[in-house]
Amino acid sequence: MALTGMDIYKMLPKKNCKECGFPTCLAFAMKLAQGGVEAEKCPYMSEEVKQKLSDATAPLMKTVKFGYGEKTYTLGGETVLFRHEKTFVNRNRFAVMFSDVMSEEDINGRIEHMNKVSYVRINERMYVEIAAVKCESDNKEKFLGLLKKVKDECKDAVPMIITENAEIAKAAVEEVKDLGPILYGANDQNYEEMVNIAKQYNILLGVEANNLEELYKLVEKIHALGYKELILGTKAVSAKKAFEDVVNIRRTALITQDRVFGYPAAVFVNRLSKDKFLQLSYATVFVEKYASIIVLDDIDYSIALPLFALRQNIYTDPQRPMRVEQGIYRIGQAEENSPVLVTVDFALTYFIVSGEVERSKVPSWVLVPDAGGYSVLTAWAAGKLSGKSIAKAVKDFGVEEKVKTREIIIPGKVAVLKSDIEDALPGWKVVVGSEEAALLPKFLRDYISKRA
Ligand code: SF4
Repeated sequence: MALTGMDIYKMLPKKNCKECGFPTCLAFAMKLAQGGVEAEKCPYMSEEVKQKLSDATAPLMKTVKFGYGEKTYTLGGETVLFRHEKTFVNRNRFAVMFSDVMSEEDINGRIEHMNKVSYVRINERMYVEIAAVKCESDNKEKFLGLLKKVKDECKDAVPMIITENAEIAKAAVEEVKDLGPILYGANDQNYEEMVNIAKQYNILLGVEANNLEELYKLVEKIHALGYKELILGTKAVSAKKAFEDVVNIRRTALITQDRVFGYPAAVFVNRLSKDKFLQLSYATVFVEKYASIIVLDDIDYSIALPLFALRQNIYTDPQRPMRVEQGIYRIGQAEENSPVLVTVDFALTYFIVSGEVERSKVPSWVLVPDAGGYSVLTAWAAGKLSGKSIAKAVKDFGVEEKVKTREIIIPGKVAVLKSDIEDALPGWKVVVGSEEAALLPKFLRDYISKRA
């Protein structure tokens, strides 16, 4: 249980010497209780009290890692139940399931889908981060063969080894140890051996039990062995139960402040349904609540596009608008006579506008100036979108070299900027576009036919 400021104060030396940087021991205790300072800052504390305090003031939910080099991922470390309270800090990661009893054709199909999914959305490359490789045959050589194939052919993915057989687990971890794998499958029978393997290779250990009560006891036993790099799961096979379990794990950690469940959780949505799109629906639920690893049977573009977009929306700071990179974007086969439209760098606005321009089938250029990441009207009201900022973008992004036309189309809602832009961009004519993005296709088609 977390300690209050007064609990901590009772343990301090009470010298009020200020050497910790705080005016009194009480002020130091209050800050320590909030996690705003480390216990080590007080030089007069006994080692025993220091250890007690650093355990008690550690984050309620542990941040754990897996992977290697640039592909090192962090999970957990969340401090709130709801994104609107603050923000979620470590996005969940998606995994595709492989098993050594699957046909070669199925395995190759999943690898092909995984490797195809790679694209950039709002400055972030989207791809499948984990290949979950499950031993179902109990045949070590067969399993290692599959693991090696996945390691060689899924270049972007970190392996998650799924087995409850400690001997096979050790050989498998040895095979992919350089990739910082996850070992998933510690249970009540094998946990001592599995902890030893995880300790030896310093890797994330997946702990699974039939239900939360058993899981709680199992984690306590693993704590007693001194290992705390864990991810938790239950064997739930219904969506309702899996949902209850992850919610209870998170609530136990953050509300009850019980660090036994202070770890990220994994959910296998491929156990909840065999239907591809039902798995997708379940995965969307667990992106929001509260799975840090979500395992699906297969991830192709039809699954990746909605899932990755949802994750990006959930795992961003709600106090900071999502922005697209400023620049000049080519839509369709835009060339030197194509229209130039201005929008803002608020991601939602950009995607709506560019989507409507695509829908119009009129090849166009879309110019995105620095607008502070705000929507059109907000950016204008905040002084972030002005004649000067648009003129600057025209110059900075070489629009005059890309197009012969000297006309620029601005959003109808900021028609008031027309003369400012014309003053800042001599030789250019400003055309006021539609007020709503939905009207852009008609506007662009009319604009082109008038010019013809
Ligand atoms: S250094 Fe320790 S004893 Fe001195 S004021 Fe800070 S908490 Fe109190």
